[in-house]
Amino acid sequence: MPQALSLTNHAISASLHIEWDDGQRQQLSHHQLRLACRCADCTALRQQHGKIVVVAAIRLVKILPVGHYGVQLVFDDGHDRGIYPWPFLRSLSSLPSLPVRA
Ligand SMILES: [Zn+2]
Repeated sequence: MPQALSLTNHAISASLHIEWDDGQRQQLSHHQLRLACRCADCTALRQQHGKIVVVAAIRLVKILPVGHYGVQLVFDDGHDRGIYPWPFLRSLSSLPSLPVRA
């Protein structure tokens, strides 16, 4: 399983950039990440309503390490229960990549 080398929270583009040790780069939007939350609350909401509703303006405000397992993401709607294991993050589809900066 590839390991994440770095996580960068880009406030302007509202996306989380992940660099993996196999050279892959991923850009995941804050909105997409919040929608993908797999905590018990979000899972229950999805089961009840078929989906969860998240405002497009949602922002990721904090990234907390969870051992070697993954990260806990905290959003500006106060939601902080989502644990995102590395393989799960990796399985999310990346946004089209931005031009590589020198
Ligand atoms: Zn959740």
